[in-house]
Amino acid sequence: MSIRPLDEKVVNRIAAGEIVVSPANALKEVLENALDAGSAVVNVVAAEGGLKLLQVSDAGTGIAKEDLPILAQRFTTSKLDSFEGLSSLSTYGFRGEALASISHVSRLTVTTRTQQSNVAYRAQYRDGVMTGDPEPIAGRVGTTITIEDMFYNNRSRLAAFRSHRDEFAKIVEVVARYAIKCATVAFTVKKQGDPHFTISLNASMSKLNRLKNVFGAVANDLIEMRLQSEDMATLGLRSALCYFTKPSYHGKKSVPPVFFINGRLVQCDPLRRGLNNIYSSFLQKGTHSFVYLEMEVDPAILDVNIHPTKREVRFLNEEEIISHICTSVLNQLAVADSSHTFVSQP
Ligand code: ADP
Ligand code: MG
Repeated sequence: MSIRPLDEKVVNRIAAGEIVVSPANALKEVLENALDAGSAVVNVVAAEGGLKLLQVSDAGTGIAKEDLPILAQRFTTSKLDSFEGLSSLSTYGFRGEALASISHVSRLTVTTRTQQSNVAYRAQYRDGVMTGDPEPIAGRVGTTITIEDMFYNNRSRLAAFRSHRDEFAKIVEVVARYAIKCATVAFTVKKQGDPHFTISLNASMSKLNRLKNVFGAVANDLIEMRLQSEDMATLGLRSALCYFTKPSYHGKKSVPPVFFINGRLVQCDPLRRGLNNIYSSFLQKGTHSFVYLEMEVDPAILDVNIHPTKREVRFLNEEEIISHICTSVLNQLAVADSSHTFVSQP
């Protein structure tokens, strides 16, 4: 016989490698868990681009001591009970794979305390399994996830990360995007041992100020557009909030567009292409626009379970919805363009 089942450990490690492909990618999962836990603050510390250390602390619900033993097992979650539940999901997570995957590619330590407990507990995980018993320690309500030596057991993956600086930049980018979306949550990011914060946003800062703070120059001159109408509701598009650069803005640096669909940070190539097309008639060659878009669609028309990283989504009426958004952006750009020409005339 030449076909035989793979060893479970191998299966788990292969699956984990698909979900946790980089520090930034692990961070996205852990950050989403902190937000799912209702935390109003998220603090991130990284060393060596997150490969040596990636630590995320929150002040969310915490995890009960009884849940710690199965925390890093694959497909264990507190967020989804049935397949039908997928269409009314209000959390980022649902697959119960993130912590499991992280424990297969790194040394994972979880320190957590719930409101009901008067101590915190610290538990360590390797390859999906809790090693030893949770240890009671002093600590505040909330959770700290500490990920050390990512890919210590996968040298070829580790070797593929050439620059700690680039990996850290990607970490900052992930936090920056969520910080705009979750504008009532306080966020910090820093390198371990560095007294200076790379990102520091307090809870009361507005969305627009956050955009300026984290994206810098591109965000200085944005048009704000809010869409909500009957005709788009028939397509399943409930609302959209979009910030985009004026036609007079010609960015030298290309900053990829940021899209959140029903709260999820996603890539949407047809939308990106549509927007690029529109801007191409306003921009000079070699210059760039910037677009930030949040849209809410009827959950019934959205499929979030396309990819293990949840990075892609599909929705019904995709073409019509994208065209509705692009046309609205185009109209605003045209107005801004004509007023600009008018003002600059002698
Ligand atoms: P998922 O988010 O898909 O449920 P994860 O592996 O990311 O799967 O997390 C597993 C479970 O661990 C979650 O369902 C949640 O109950 C718990 N958990 C993880 N991180 C946190 C956190 N920061 N605060 C509270 N609970 C958490
Ligand atoms: Mg999760």
